[in-house]
Amino acid sequence: MSGGSIAEPTELLDWWRRGEEHLATALGRLTDEEFAAPSLLPGWDRRRLLAHLARNADALVNLLTWARTGTETPMYPSPESRDAGIAEAAGLPPAVLRTELMAATGRLTDAVRAMPADAWSAQVRTAQGRPVPATEVPWMRSREVWVHAVDLDAGVDFVDVPEDVLAAVVDDVFRMWEVRDQAPDLAVFAGDREWGTGSLAVAGTLPDVAGWLTGRTSGAALQADGPLPTLAAWL
Ligand code: ZN
Repeated sequence: MSGGSIAEPTELLDWWRRGEEHLATALGRLTDEEFAAPSLLPGWDRRRLLAHLARNADALVNLLTWARTGTETPMYPSPESRDAGIAEAAGLPPAVLRTELMAATGRLTDAVRAMPADAWSAQVRTAQGRPVPATEVPWMRSREVWVHAVDLDAGVDFVDVPEDVLAAVVDDVFRMWEVRDQAPDLAVFAGDREWGTGSLAVAGTLPDVAGWLTGRTSGAALQADGPLPTLAAWL
């Protein structure tokens, strides 16, 4: 440890704040009756997705508390309690679930405000057991809110996500594959950005590339010099 003058992660916090607003906009387009309809995530209705987003905010409060106090506070006590928390919130009446998500987001905002600058470099662990600095927490929330806002099927799409966030999402997908030794044999191109050094070249717009690599689309809009492979899940 350097003893620390690591400042708060300004860019990540900016993506996170804008992402929460983006999610709130998507949520605002849905009527209570529409909560029971499917999301774009197979097997997840919108209630369950919103319940997950609320519990995820609280789980990330736990990581910031851990970073700030040094007392180990995991995201979830166990996978079972994570699932139980989502199921419970998903069963709330829509108006209550809406309020609960906003309240959880408010708790996360408070936890971010309570972080002293030097606590951002503290190490915590993700639910998968990966050690990360607390600076990763606003990114973990950013990718949740930006991508699940699309999954809500409320009329927002990857084209509505800022390019720098989309590029960071694609970076994240490749990083996760690398960690799990699941990197596909691909070289992916979007504008002047590229990922991977594999043998199959795939190109498209950044929203189309991000949609396919995150498992949200079939990749039909992409250009490739061979059949697209089946990809490992991102998260
Ligand atoms: Zn999620």
